[in-house]
Amino acid sequence: MTEITTEQAVKHLDYLLKANRAQERERKRDKKIADAESANREFYSRMLPKGYIAGLGRDYPHPRLAHLYKGDIDDPGLPMCKRGWNRDNGTSYSIWRNNYGRDGICTVCVKRAFKGLDGVKPKEYQDYEGMDPEEKDK
Ligand SMILES: [Zn+2]
Repeated sequence: MTEITTEQAVKHLDYLLKANRAQERERKRDKKIADAESANREFYSRMLPKGYIAGLGRDYPHPRLAHLYKGDIDDPGLPMCKRGWNRDNGTSYSIWRNNYGRDGICTVCVKRAFKGLDGVKPKEYQDYEGMDPEEKDK
């Protein structure tokens, strides 16, 4: 066995310390995100109109915003804004049902749900019925 010099030991301990700090920062960040998602779940489950379900795009890292879908856990139905179509160039979606982003739910979706509107069709069929003109590009 080769002796480890003091210099090597110090260098390695320094490396471990930095790695631990990085891990701790990552753990705190993950906890912050989980806390925010949980607070949003609590908030939205009380204020959302019935008949809509939140969906978070199945991407990693998680998208910050969830979208609403007019449906339920078994059949989410149509998304409430075009960004809810998050796959295949706006023609399909893949979501974690009942999941809320760290920044909550897209305001276009929430506003439209409070107006009791239907979901939006896939890209090629969208007509933006009932949507404010300035929201068309969101
Ligand atoms: Zn949306």
